[in-house]
Amino acid sequence: MAGADGTAAGVSGDGDLRARLARRIREAGPISLAEYMEAALWDKQYGYYAMHAPIGAAGDFITAPEVSQVFGELIGLWCADLWRKMGAPGTVLVCELGPGNGTLMKDFLRAARVAPEFRRAIRLHLVERSPALRALQQKTLAEATPVWHERLDQLPPGPLLLVANEFLDALPIRQFERRKDGWHERRIGIDAQGDLAFVSDPAPAEAPLPDWPAGSIVELCPEALMLARSLAARLKQQGGAALFVDYGYFPGAPGDSFQAVSRHRRFDPLKEPGSADLTAHVDFATFAQAAAKAGARVWGPAAQGDFLTALGLAERAKRLAAGKTTPESQAIAAACRRLIEPAQMGSLFKALALTHPALPAPAGFGS
Ligand code: SAH
Repeated sequence: MAGADGTAAGVSGDGDLRARLARRIREAGPISLAEYMEAALWDKQYGYYAMHAPIGAAGDFITAPEVSQVFGELIGLWCADLWRKMGAPGTVLVCELGPGNGTLMKDFLRAARVAPEFRRAIRLHLVERSPALRALQQKTLAEATPVWHERLDQLPPGPLLLVANEFLDALPIRQFERRKDGWHERRIGIDAQGDLAFVSDPAPAEAPLPDWPAGSIVELCPEALMLARSLAARLKQQGGAALFVDYGYFPGAPGDSFQAVSRHRRFDPLKEPGSADLTAHVDFATFAQAAAKAGARVWGPAAQGDFLTALGLAERAKRLAAGKTTPESQAIAAACRRLIEPAQMGSLFKALALTHPALPAPAGFGS
């Protein structure tokens, strides 16, 4: 799509951001990976999400709700069930973090019509930083009169059902590498050719880090941990539940999982800041620990394939295919396989739920 100034995204603007970062590094020294991600994704002029609406077959990457409508529908029914388990409050905040094109929530709300009292109770809140994506969400979800926020802590009080698909992977991370003399932060500096390049901070890392052998890399996502803590505290105080679906590790922690994707392909993440989506794998164990310590009950993570299968993906797909032509029903079946097969999205992607400690098990997480 065209940038705010009319230039094509990914052409003239990206070089300017790289030049600006290079100048900043020359003046003030290497920057952390988190500072780099913040600039590359959110720079007001050249940031990836400031300029692009990247999600879908014609964009840079595809997500589960864009693969099949069944994904958002099942999550809507999952929330309807939890709403009943919460005692069917007359109003409930339904909040999505990073709704992208708005597809998940559109499918969620359509499915919620099977429970009209739940549908009537919903007050829709969206947490979205990207102006380009807010504009798309406005079109897709206008009927549900959403209220937008920059951050989760701007939500009004009340019982909450929160969903977030591929949100945590977009939060800025810091990386540390273990050398013989201990942990050092991996920062971004400038190499002999004048290109952005990883450098190791000569000073020892101040953060407490695990006792791993030399050569290891560890990632920290401070924003994800702050989110886990504040959301857990809120759920404990005001009631409700949250569902996070993302790609990541459990158990164990990632090594170097920092990656860039553009036009459905891996891309050098330091090459053209602002032109590609930057992400890291989610460290589910650390996220879950932070939420549990702050008072939420943690469920899972479950592999996405197991979770969706337990929610009735096969039946829903069959019903959707009823009366369709053979090619149409084959496409529905193929999309559903893509969501659940381990070699595709079924096992790298995981679902993790947080609930008020008194709620019974949410659907899909056993007992
Ligand atoms: N959930 C959607 C989109 C995933 S892409 C889907 O599954 O298709 C990540 C989304 O999170 C985008 O909408 C992006 O703009 C938003 N986002 C990323 N970091 C954010 C932040 N710190 N605050 C608010 N929104 C953010």
